[in-house]
Amino acid sequence: MEVKTSLLDNMIGVGDMVLLEPLSEDSFIENLRNRFDHNEIYTYIGSVVISMNPYRSLPIFNPDKVEEYRNRNFYELSPHIYALADEAYRSLRDQDKDQCILITGESGAGKTEASKLVMSYVAAVCGKGQEVNKVKEQLLQSNPVLEAFGNAKTVRNDNSSRFGKYMDIEFDFKGDPLGGVISNYLLEKSRVVKQPRGERNFHVFYQLLSGASDDTLKKLKLDRDFSKYNYLSLDSAAVNGLDDAANFRTVKNAMQIVGFMEDEVQSVLELVAAVLKLGNIEFKPESRCNGTDESRIKDKNVTCVYLQAYYARDALAKNLYSRLFSWLVTRINESIKVTRHKVMGVLDIYGFEIFEENSFEQFIINYCNEKLQQIFIELTLREEQEEYIREGIEWTNIEYFNNAIICDLIENHQSGILAMLDEECLRPGTVTDETFLDKLNTICAEHQHFESRLSKNSKYITDHSLPHTCFRIQHYAGKVLYRAEGFVDKNNDLLYRDLSQAMYKANHSLIKQLFPEGNPAKVNLKRPPTAGFQFKASVGTLMRNLQTKNPNYIRCIKPNDKKASHIFTDSLVCHQVRYLGLMENVRVRRAGYAFRQAYEPCLERYKMLCKRTWPHWSGPAREGVEVLMADLKVPAEEFSYGRSKIFIRNPRSLFFLEERRRQ
Ligand code: ATP
Ligand code: MG
Repeated sequence: MEVKTSLLDNMIGVGDMVLLEPLSEDSFIENLRNRFDHNEIYTYIGSVVISMNPYRSLPIFNPDKVEEYRNRNFYELSPHIYALADEAYRSLRDQDKDQCILITGESGAGKTEASKLVMSYVAAVCGKGQEVNKVKEQLLQSNPVLEAFGNAKTVRNDNSSRFGKYMDIEFDFKGDPLGGVISNYLLEKSRVVKQPRGERNFHVFYQLLSGASDDTLKKLKLDRDFSKYNYLSLDSAAVNGLDDAANFRTVKNAMQIVGFMEDEVQSVLELVAAVLKLGNIEFKPESRCNGTDESRIKDKNVTCVYLQAYYARDALAKNLYSRLFSWLVTRINESIKVTRHKVMGVLDIYGFEIFEENSFEQFIINYCNEKLQQIFIELTLREEQEEYIREGIEWTNIEYFNNAIICDLIENHQSGILAMLDEECLRPGTVTDETFLDKLNTICAEHQHFESRLSKNSKYITDHSLPHTCFRIQHYAGKVLYRAEGFVDKNNDLLYRDLSQAMYKANHSLIKQLFPEGNPAKVNLKRPPTAGFQFKASVGTLMRNLQTKNPNYIRCIKPNDKKASHIFTDSLVCHQVRYLGLMENVRVRRAGYAFRQAYEPCLERYKMLCKRTWPHWSGPAREGVEVLMADLKVPAEEFSYGRSKIFIRNPRSLFFLEERRRQ
């Protein structure tokens, strides 16, 4: 990294963790706290931005700030998310390098807000014309639409994204936006039919009931009263500071700007209404002479065994809703898609999760985070290496924790946990979560034995004290205990064939479109791919996409779990610093040479320390710096001379120079 004056002058704490001396978890957290207490919510680790959620509006996101950060070098001003957005945008525009912005952190840490700040910064600094403005509006307005259908109030976050999102924004050669493509990952569809205590269903249900006109509700045969609907939790229907009715208007307006036609909006609302009404279908057991229980809904010809009836109803509601969500993404893409020229991708995806009960969803999410960590290390090292090569500096090997072994444990196509789960799901005979777990224990124990001979580093932990329905994985961020219950079912994600067929027969073109497999002319006896398989494939595509781009990282941290401003809970922050692998991040950045600075600014800053360079040095800057270092007797092993920069190994050498300046 280049050290510009602002990171050393007038800084609260240390603006860049790479400069932290001594470096320890305690000093790291103390520095975050000190800065947070002074409203400095951003801190760097080299080019990585750590963002603390302030839980209140700070006067640092406005047009003046945008102007301040515009066209400035990354380290020139105090740390800010705008500096990262500016750097990414300029290197896309001027150097033709595709960019990606990877935003991680746990629920409520501020990822979605960060992604919107990046998008609004880019929208503010790029071209203006009428056509460009229309594209910008469409891109920005895709957010409220997806948030209405994909976000919900949870105990951790009143506006929690219940899906992962990656958006490529596409630019022309001048750097003006042309359009974009959105990919969505794993919507938490179980929420449609059931919400944990204190949480809500997806926003759109409440928005529709609160915000639609009487006339619309009448047409949709809906009642304004939330309590009439089984799928809407009652204890938390109204959320402080959330105006469902106003948001409904925002969403409808956004849909219009994005390019939805009137009848499409209507169809979407009809589907939302249908899901709500599905939840109210009740079944009555009817005894038949052959002794089996059968359910019958009055006037409808849907029959199934009573005990399975609710299961099927909920499966249908979940499927209907999640397919609607995917359709929305596809529909938005139709509006905003163009042939790509230059691309900036923004990834806002769930961070590492460890709850008391961890299920299939956490397993999948944590797998995705392992992959992101892997790519982070790979790309950071690659970036370092490339700079060393450019500068003609000898590459010193950096020791780091390689999590490839954990990724392999999960995704190996023969012996990985996902493959075993698939195998179990496809196996004929009685398949249960227990048979899956038995298989896992047998195979992983062998694997572990094999691994231990190789590395003593196995990541699947067999421990006889574990509850017998659980297995544990040592992730890069910590150990996680998973409960196997529900894995088989969630991975199978099956919808009864006759339900797909019934949907296909519906007299509603959108519903028909959502269930193509129900078309009797196209009966496909092959099983649909499992949820795990699909997720693995989409993570694979995402990783390949990210690998072709220049990465920019935003690591979000929440300071407390009360959604409150001004409170900084050390233990909670420490937890996140670990899960985000931030200490490792600093170590990798510092492993070779902690600092680098171009010769000119270096000479400019320190020339006063040496008679031969002060007040003017007339030769090349590099020679001036060499004279300076020799004169100050900085030990030779402490630095190397690159083509355009000096590389300094240890922060202490830099502080030595800084102290001399102050004397
Ligand atoms: P999830 O994983 O649940 O989607 P998230 O990381 O996306 O969580 P956000 O929805 O971005 O979290 O942020 C949670 C809340 O924190 C926001 O609704 C807002 O109230 C507050 N917040 C986040 N970032 C900022 C910010 N920069 N300034 C002010 N408030 C913020
Ligand atoms: Mg979010």
